[in-house]
Amino acid sequence: MRMTVLASGSKGNSTVIASARTRVLVDAGLSCRELLRRMAQAQEDPAALDAILITHEHQDHVAGLATLARRLRIPVFFTEGTHRAWVRMVTPRATMTYAQWLDHIQQEKAARAALAAQGVPQARAASLGTVGGMGTVPAPPQSLDPIAGPRAEATASGAEAASAEDEEGSPGAAPKPDPAYLPAVEYFHSGANFSIGDLSITPFTIPHDAADPCGFVFESRSDSIRMAIATDLGYMPPNVKSALKRVDVLLLESNHDLEMLKDGPYPWAVKQRVLSRVGHLSNHATAEFLARDYDGGATYIVLGHLSEANNAPELALLSAEQALAGRMTLLGNRILLAQQAAPLAPICL
Ligand SMILES: [Zn+2]
Ligand SMILES: [Zn+2]
Repeated sequence: MRMTVLASGSKGNSTVIASARTRVLVDAGLSCRELLRRMAQAQEDPAALDAILITHEHQDHVAGLATLARRLRIPVFFTEGTHRAWVRMVTPRATMTYAQWLDHIQQEKAARAALAAQGVPQARAASLGTVGGMGTVPAPPQSLDPIAGPRAEATASGAEAASAEDEEGSPGAAPKPDPAYLPAVEYFHSGANFSIGDLSITPFTIPHDAADPCGFVFESRSDSIRMAIATDLGYMPPNVKSALKRVDVLLLESNHDLEMLKDGPYPWAVKQRVLSRVGHLSNHATAEFLARDYDGGATYIVLGHLSEANNAPELALLSAEQALAGRMTLLGNRILLAQQAAPLAPICL
């Protein structure tokens, strides 16, 4: 099993998780072009990705999502709350009255029913062996246009691919494509295990100021290796502590140094947000978890989502090392620092 952190931090997050037969991308928080560049750097083949999983709708987790999913034509897995929040975010729309909104929902339902009645195949989602009763939500028919034509074919494989970064329709008569269009959308629920290929995935709720944010534990069915991602959380609630038991690789947030944040450049309101119960984990909070609650089972602990303004890699590292130093049995744990600017070498177990 393999984890490749392509980017981590408030300017963008994305990580490849791969088992023997399945490969997924967790978050797509850089531009599509930059994500593809980093995958090439880390020797991760984008064409081999089976799906994209989204933790929450903040820009540093979804910036390149629509473009990448369309280009690779792979399904995107969200919670329903996150998907709805994302659609709202990317859809430029004048404020709706409640009646208009009800009408919109009704139209969406009708479009879905029409598609189902036509038996329209739903991209590759059907072949992924997903379980757990998740509903597939096909995009409305009109938004199928931008990807269905031969132009999209040419773009995906052609040398000019990079120039189509924004997937804009050709200027002129064609209607503007739906910015929220995705080839296929699958819903999961935090706390409910589901599978993609031979990857078993357990999403867990995290306390963060987004619609329905989550972290993930991935387990490869072939070798029972477990890898977890837990960033963007204001504190460590019991459900997260228990989700992070028995993991072999743990990507864990160590966002800020408390002193640097307090003395740093952020406006007071932003400082309050970061420090709040729905903000980000400080080095101190992460160290406290490692010293008190962590079971010591991981071969690698990857510290991630470090703030560039309010943290220093040495401080985060030192803090985590000190937390583990008190526990002699844990000296086998290796601590790595995920980077904002470059991919980390793949971690293979
Ligand atoms: Zn984030
Ligand atoms: Zn966030």
